[in-house]
Amino acid sequence: MAESIYDVLVVGAGCAGSAAAMYAGRFGLKVAMIGEMPGGTITQTHVVENYPGFETITGLELGERLLNHAKAYGVEVKMEKVVDAAKRQDLLFSITTDSKEVYVSRTLIAATGAEWKKLGAPGEKEYTNKGVHYCALCDGSFYKNKVIAVIGSGDSAAKESQLLAEYGSHVYVFVRGDALHGEPINNARVAVNKKITVFTNVQVKEIVGGGEKKKVTHLKLSKSCAPSGSKPTDLFPVDAVFVLIGHSAVSAWTKELGVSLNAKGEIAIDRLSRTNVSGLFAAGDVTDTEFKQAITGAAEGVSAAYSAYSYLQKGKK
Ligand SMILES: Cc1cc2nc3c(=O)[nH]c(=O)nc-3n(C[C@H](O)[C@H](O)[C@H](O)COP(=O)(O)OP(=O)(O)OC[C@H]3O[C@@H](n4cnc5c(N)ncnc54)[C@H](O)[C@@H]3O)c2cc1C
Repeated sequence: MAESIYDVLVVGAGCAGSAAAMYAGRFGLKVAMIGEMPGGTITQTHVVENYPGFETITGLELGERLLNHAKAYGVEVKMEKVVDAAKRQDLLFSITTDSKEVYVSRTLIAATGAEWKKLGAPGEKEYTNKGVHYCALCDGSFYKNKVIAVIGSGDSAAKESQLLAEYGSHVYVFVRGDALHGEPINNARVAVNKKITVFTNVQVKEIVGGGEKKKVTHLKLSKSCAPSGSKPTDLFPVDAVFVLIGHSAVSAWTKELGVSLNAKGEIAIDRLSRTNVSGLFAAGDVTDTEFKQAITGAAEGVSAAYSAYSYLQKGKK
């Protein structure tokens, strides 16, 4: 039987992948999108207020809309994990998934986003899902009226601490540097939220737990901080801790393709989302673009689809 060959395989089903797949579908190409998490990372934040065209929309709805838009143009969606990618001698890409499926394509768009960075402190691994979490929307509701800590200083910390304050009795944000560096609008909202206290110039040295249920009980800090109504202590009592210290690119699966990565492991792209490998394009949080948002990822996805289309057209001449 003849091998089934896609024009475009998109790996990743988030904002970048869905936008790329939608455009590629509209170009009349045969497209499949392979992604473990349909809708991607944006589905893990409660509300998005900065995606043009939507003054406010839940992350889940935005992710679903982008995905459904791709499906509307005939994109085949495969919920699998890519474990291997290679470029064959005949210049076709060969993608193997954890279901042992092999997909073959003329072009490939890498849109695998980024994964939560780990703190690396003692206790973090031991108490993951036992008080240590990375996704406020997914796990915040377990801590109604409990004391919640957030570790981080960027926009995720500023934004998600507000959601966590809706659940917890109080949220303490531990910032390593001298200020919270979220979007100004989110910093301002944190500053006026009486249920959020920000401590600066402090590091979490250890996540301490125990008890019968073996859950998080305290944070060991580099300096004493005062829980509201109590004396300062460097053994700070908490029921949960959300580690929101950024992301690292999910690019390891592209290694055999010989793609150029920067020092942070991000795929280097040009303004048309082209990589150094012919026929391979990349978009979204997996790339070396500095400002990583849903809209920038979607825009790069669209450029990647356009570049893939141009590449295929040239091949026909
Ligand atoms: C807490 C938080 C709040 C945020 N709030 C906002 C906001 O308000 N506004 C905004 O614009 N942006 C926000 N962002 C940023 C935004 O979520 C990202 O920039 C955007 O989701 C990146 O899209 P992406 O498609 O590049 O990657 P992702 O959305 O991460 O998608 C990656 C896709 O690749 C898949 N994948 C990964 N590895 C594999 C593999 N080996 N095989 C198959 N599939 C794989 C994943 O399952 C997923 O489908 C927020 C981020 C976080 C973490």
